[in-house]
Amino acid sequence: MSHIEITGARENNLKNISLKIPKKQITVFTGVSGSGKSSIVFDTIAAESQRQLNETFTTFVRNRLPKYGQPDADGVENLSAAVVIGQQRIGGNSRSTVGTITDIHSLLRLLYSRIGTPPAGYSNAFSFNDPAGMCPECEGVGRKMTLDLDRALDRSKSLNEGAMLLPNFGVGTWFWKTFAHSGLFDNDKKLADYTESEWETLLRGQGPDVMFETQGGTVPQKYEGLVDKFDRIYIRKDIDTKANREALLEFVSTRTCPLCRGARLNQAALACRIDGRNIADLAAMEARHLVDVVARIDHPIAATMVAAVLERLRHLVSIGLGYLSLDRATTTLSGGESQRIKMVRHLGSSLTDMTYIFDEPTVGLHPRDVRRMNGLLRELRDKGNTVLVVEHDRDVIEIADHVVDVGPHAGAHGGEIVYEGGVAGLHRAGTLTGRHMRHNRPLKAGFREPTGTLTVTGATAHNLKDVTVGFPTGVLTVVTGVAGSGKSTLVNEVFLARHPDAVVIDQSAVSRSIRSNPATYTGLMDEIRRLFAKAGGVSPALFSFNSKGACPQCQGLGIIYTDLAFMDAVTSTCEVCQGRRFREEVLRHTLRGRSISDVLEMTAGEAAEFFTEPKPARVLRAVNEVGLGYLKLGQPLSSLSGGECQRIKLAGELHKTGSVYVMDEPTTGLHMADVRHLLTIMDSLVDAGNTVIAIEHNLDVVKHADWIVDLGPDGGDQGGTVVFEGTPRQLLEAAGSFTAEYLRRDLG
Ligand code: ADP
Ligand code: ADP
Ligand code: ZN
Ligand code: ZN
Repeated sequence: MSHIEITGARENNLKNISLKIPKKQITVFTGVSGSGKSSIVFDTIAAESQRQLNETFTTFVRNRLPKYGQPDADGVENLSAAVVIGQQRIGGNSRSTVGTITDIHSLLRLLYSRIGTPPAGYSNAFSFNDPAGMCPECEGVGRKMTLDLDRALDRSKSLNEGAMLLPNFGVGTWFWKTFAHSGLFDNDKKLADYTESEWETLLRGQGPDVMFETQGGTVPQKYEGLVDKFDRIYIRKDIDTKANREALLEFVSTRTCPLCRGARLNQAALACRIDGRNIADLAAMEARHLVDVVARIDHPIAATMVAAVLERLRHLVSIGLGYLSLDRATTTLSGGESQRIKMVRHLGSSLTDMTYIFDEPTVGLHPRDVRRMNGLLRELRDKGNTVLVVEHDRDVIEIADHVVDVGPHAGAHGGEIVYEGGVAGLHRAGTLTGRHMRHNRPLKAGFREPTGTLTVTGATAHNLKDVTVGFPTGVLTVVTGVAGSGKSTLVNEVFLARHPDAVVIDQSAVSRSIRSNPATYTGLMDEIRRLFAKAGGVSPALFSFNSKGACPQCQGLGIIYTDLAFMDAVTSTCEVCQGRRFREEVLRHTLRGRSISDVLEMTAGEAAEFFTEPKPARVLRAVNEVGLGYLKLGQPLSSLSGGECQRIKLAGELHKTGSVYVMDEPTTGLHMADVRHLLTIMDSLVDAGNTVIAIEHNLDVVKHADWIVDLGPDGGDQGGTVVFEGTPRQLLEAAGSFTAEYLRRDLG
């Protein structure tokens, strides 16, 4: 058996480690958050694979690719081409759907062009992204934006009084003059008093040429009504590209396209049917129902195509995405859903001897769905690929052929391999992971008494079936249910819309500014600057990245960004300050022997020992409590993972009281040991008089809840109802709940 061999790896916190990873096997990398898993898998293995791949291109191409530096390692041998399947959302535009991105839609098009009746052409005639197939009314988008007249016009006013409320249509503007100077209206007449025909002229009038005054004299111009004008200058020119998009969207309402009724295709394509259904009917069905419909297609020349469609659909279903329809826009998918969709694409590929790297593929998955996903990881392996998975989930670790446990702790206290070998050995290992694999957390003994209830009544968004449910206050509520059951819809859409004062602690980026770091975000930087200023008898402003004390070359960033068109920017350490960010004279000021630059290089854990002053100490305690003690104070927030973003937001809330907090899968990125830590934090939030509502699959969190709201029974149209509300102990007795079933197994 051959191995990927890494010797002397030193990226980030790695302590000169060497390891052998078996090829064509599943290797799971585990260890507490910040221990160094990503430094091995992404920064060493994936980076070196990408670098070697780039070497194979011509100089011309290479000069146009981002430069991958050699990872800090003595050697990385025997690599195969690596594909990283992470949680970045599949952005794209409204033309990118689950069907197009998985290639299932193009297979269906082929199928319709061969055996559909009456024939509509070949396969482009079924593509909503091709002029041959797209609906002429909505140009293949399925929706149409129209001007919302109630918002665009104030009927109690005349043109002269500013009846047109649209941006760029104010009194005196060019657009306003095309109406007011047209001679077609009484400019002092209130719109409410317009006759039927004046109203029609205002909205949809066309030509004839009218003369109207401009600064340069009188010019002929074709008159055009407001609705058509707005359509022509904004809507058709893809509103998304307009700088004042947000402002314009206020005045637009989006409706299903009246011609194709959302099917995106022209009438010829929609008339073409197989077994009575057109291609849009198929695209609108949930994938798991579509499987049955496609399986029944019985036609001699279709067998191969049908088999190819079925294979991909079954992958979608087995990865827990059977509730998605092919026409679902990829822009509306969550991070976990996006990752699984990418996985389906690769499962359909016939490439072998690749290295597939997964970053926590269980994000967003209920224990029931994890088992199915494990099957797909095995399938990738059995095709002859090497599968590397960064994961904390017990059930995934259990299927590993090989485990690499990184630790013992985070940051400077991690960076070593504490266990390497099979799963059986891990169960006996003395590492944090080993200990947690052996011991299941029991159900908690008592549950808090609610202080009141926040109610949602009659919720019907997406798949919710007229849901009425209470969220108790003053306790920890966990919302559970299989993927697609409606958790995010209920909590993130409906609950938040009706209780807008709730504080959302989610995984979205904390800040995109490269100047933000844990110190600035938590307010710690202000305290630190004050302390340095007091010690040196100078102004606190001197110690700001934005002041004249900052290095003039890099403006206090410590690094220089070189932008390459269409590529990620390339960074290099600033040569003037050597990455220290400040001018020499600023760095001469010290606090207890450390310069401002030294302090920014400290981890939050180190800083907590260094700063004993009450204010900074309190902030640092909070950062350490949320398990981010390994972060450097000056590390750009843009380098934080989703889970880390969520925890740093949490750190900023720890001293508050009387709030309602909503969290979406707070255990993302957390090792079993980190989860215990998180539970302590959630407890202290609740004990301080707050309400916490979390969407979560992690059974350790479920067992720690005071109250459970379980949605289901399944995903998509088979979900959307509350199948259980009560304490975790009552959940154990519940029938018809997948969560109950897996909780019983876990405790059993
Ligand atoms: P894990 O994947 O186990 O959570 P990482 O490999 O991401 O851990 O991190 C290991 C250590 O390296 C942590 O202390 C982390 O803060 C640090 N680190 C990771 N990426 C960077 C970076 N780009 N700059 C500075 N420190 C980093
Ligand atoms: P969960 O959070 O439990 O995984 P969701 O609330 O995300 O479930 O999804 C519930 C149902 O609503 C699913 O059928 C899903 O496909 C559908 N859905 C969610 N978001 C959208 C959206 N933006 N557009 C259309 N359907 C959606
Ligand atoms: Zn249309
Ligand atoms: Zn500099």
